[in-house]
Amino acid sequence: MNTPTPKAPCGCDELPPGTLTVEEARERILDLVTPVAETRTLPLFETLGHVLAENVVSPVNVPPHRNSAMDGYAVRSADLPTQGTARLRVAGTAWAGRPWEGEVAEGQCVRIMTGAEVPAGADTVIMQEHTERVGDAIVIAGGHQAGQNVRQPGEDIRTGDTVLETGQRLRAVELALLASLGVPEVTVHRKPTVAFFSTGDELIAPGGALGPSQIYDANRYAIFGMLRDLGVELLDLGVIPDTREAVEQAFHKAVAKADAIVTSGGVSVGDADYVKETLDRLGKVDFWKIAMKPGKPLAFGKVERAFFFGLPGNPVSTLVTFYQFARPALRRLMGEQHIPAPLTLRVPAAEPLKKRPGRTDFQRGILERNPEGELVVRSVGQQASHILSGMSRANCFIVLPRESAGVAAGTPVDVQPFEGILS
Ligand code: AMP
Ligand code: MG
Repeated sequence: MNTPTPKAPCGCDELPPGTLTVEEARERILDLVTPVAETRTLPLFETLGHVLAENVVSPVNVPPHRNSAMDGYAVRSADLPTQGTARLRVAGTAWAGRPWEGEVAEGQCVRIMTGAEVPAGADTVIMQEHTERVGDAIVIAGGHQAGQNVRQPGEDIRTGDTVLETGQRLRAVELALLASLGVPEVTVHRKPTVAFFSTGDELIAPGGALGPSQIYDANRYAIFGMLRDLGVELLDLGVIPDTREAVEQAFHKAVAKADAIVTSGGVSVGDADYVKETLDRLGKVDFWKIAMKPGKPLAFGKVERAFFFGLPGNPVSTLVTFYQFARPALRRLMGEQHIPAPLTLRVPAAEPLKKRPGRTDFQRGILERNPEGELVVRSVGQQASHILSGMSRANCFIVLPRESAGVAAGTPVDVQPFEGILS
């Protein structure tokens, strides 16, 4: 059922002047952010989550020697029977790390373990299960191929191959890969320090008692978690009240130590102008309207040498704008070179989805299998930008394009799974 998304009846393809699309905002941000220049050489165990600042060239072949892929018997392929069976005398045993030093002669074989070096003379390994042991000999039937079950030196990596390139984030598998080359340390970008604070006179830290008109500060915890997941160094500056002095002081503290600053609140139209004035004095920051929901207002720029992300205050907007804009930009700041757009799947909506044309919606959804076993997506329910419980229940964003006026059940929609971006 490929019903096209209905076109907006209002000509909403045209954006209001001064408004950016999600893609434009992401591109502008990524164009401006450059990796932290300082590098350090660290032992492998300390490099997890860092980004390489050098190409790594293999000093060795992997595997380094010809070895067996199976437990079995190393044989000469010339001794394999073309018809009937062959009987080969077992001349010794080759263990992983303890080779059999001789040369396999005609009519002989060597018992061999997985990973053991294949002895001279032999070129083929017969699985143990395909042999019959009779005293000090084995009997093999036909049907085997010369060279089977032997791993050749350099099959995975050859000496001189570029194995990892600068800009690569180091995960568990890359640590293992580097270790497999015998590389004990690598040069990585210094991890950036990111300062963060929440703004708002109404905010109280958890643990305190709520007074009239007050709410608990949720966003600093969201930002903390998202930054920690990324692996940057953190500088928590707390809750900052809506006064010129407090905001100015917070920015001064931040720029003294941080490579980037992430804040929540105070960037909407109608918010106190002193945030804007302070930022104008300290750097160059643009206040954007992005054609998206949630997360329309966003401030981005530089405060002295630090990149600044002013995220909107509604908690779901804070999370959505962080994932769509701040996260890719901070990955670049960490040194990553290839930052793919979020993985997007096309999945039918299990139910109608409501939307008004004009902005790209990032609805919170649940990606699941229907009784027929097909992937479908449904809404978590309430979609307003203060409904944090819905974001918690969601496992994906349902991304509905600007012109969409909602979709009928069964319509394929774009879905960005959280797996891999949220943890
Ligand atoms: P603002 O972007 O500052 O205009 O805030 C927009 C909405 O988000 C208001 O309802 C605020 O009370 C709320 N809000 C702002 N900051 C936070 C925060 N740290 N935690 C929870 N809600 C917040
Ligand atoms: Mg506020």
